[in-house]
Parts: sequence; structure tokens; C-alpha cells
Amino acid sequence: TPVIGVLALQGDVREHLIALAAADAVARPVRRPEELADIDALVIPGGESTTMSKLAVLFGMLEPLRERVRAGLPVYGTCAGMIMLADKLLDGREDQETLGGIDMIVRRNAFGRQNESFEAKVDFAGIGGGAVEGVFIRAPWVESVGAAVEVLATYDGHTVAVRQGNVLATSFHPELTGDDRVHAYFVDMVRAGL
Ligand code: GLN
Repeated sequence: TPVIGVLALQGDVREHLIALAAADAVARPVRRPEELADIDALVIPGGESTTMSKLAVLFGMLEPLRERVRAGLPVYGTCAGMIMLADKLLDGREDQETLGGIDMIVRRNAFGRQNESFEAKVDFAGIGGGAVEGVFIRAPWVESVGAAVEVLATYDGHTVAVRQGNVLATSFHPELTGDDRVHAYFVDMVRAGL
């Protein structure tokens, strides 16, 4: 059974811990560099990416995280987590850091303001059983991707789920829906690499 950490600096950590457990992984919060040593994979939750970036610096997690991602750690980021996995950001704060990991340009807050948040059905390549419910909260979209990146879902003409190798990102929040199929997809990815 894979052990999957949830980056617990800020954001909807608890919801991911529950969704991962439902998808048959052992899930635990991670906030210190030492705790990165004994996990098989990592989830970066939704929340607020500029705050997450600041806390990653404060907790001495930025470089250790970058190193682990570069070394091939499977990672799944939702919303703010997607932003953290972008090699390049549009509309980021000036001092905002990302980890990188996916050769993509992500536009922060692309779908509009907090009160323009919405839910929509999203067809997700590789996930059976019908469309998944996409919860978009002040969500980013993927503006463009490099050749190694697979687009798994689009909404309204915009890319909202991508994968590069064993790094996965969605603009939306499956952890808020009670539908654990995207987490199960990630856990299968992790299992395949163990
Ligand atoms: N707009 C947020 C950010 O820039 C992301 C929102 C979310 O994670 N729901 O980090």
C-alpha cells in the first residue's frame, strides 16, 4: 500500500487525507523536510498558492520539495497545488515561488473572482464511469503545455487537467466532492511506479 503525504502548510489538507484513504492509500500530513524521506508520493492541496509558497520558504521546504519532485516523486496538485507544479506562472505575485514539475504555463485566477466559482461536469481521459464533478474555486487554467505533457481534461476550451510522467494536476478539487476516482487514478499511478 503506497504511503502518500499531503503537504500540510496551508489548504484543504484534511479533505485530501480522507479521499486518499478512501482510494486505499495510507495518507499522512507532511510539513517538515525530514517527513519527505519516507513517502511514496505527495499531494499538494487546494488553498492559496502565494501563502503556500511563503510557508514553503519559511518551513525550509521549498528546495527539499523541488529536489524530490526533480528526482521523480509522484505528485498530484489540485488548484493552488496545480499552480505550485507549474514550470511557469502568469498572474502570479512578484515573489511567488513554484516547485515546477510540469512543463506548462498556468494562469492564476483565470476563471475569475471568488464569486465566479462554479461546478461543472468534466470528462477525464483515463477515468471510467462518466464525467467527474469539477469544483472550480477561483481556479487557474493551463494556458499552454510542452510536448511531454498529456492533457486529460478541458472545460469550455481551457485545459484543466494534465499529466507529465507521474506528476498530475487539476484546476478543480475532486477532494471536495466525495467522488474519489481522481484520487484512485493517482494512487494507481503511484502503485504502477513502486
Ligand atoms: N486562487 C488560488 C491561488 O492563487 C487557488 C484557489 C484554490 O486553490 N481553490 O492560489
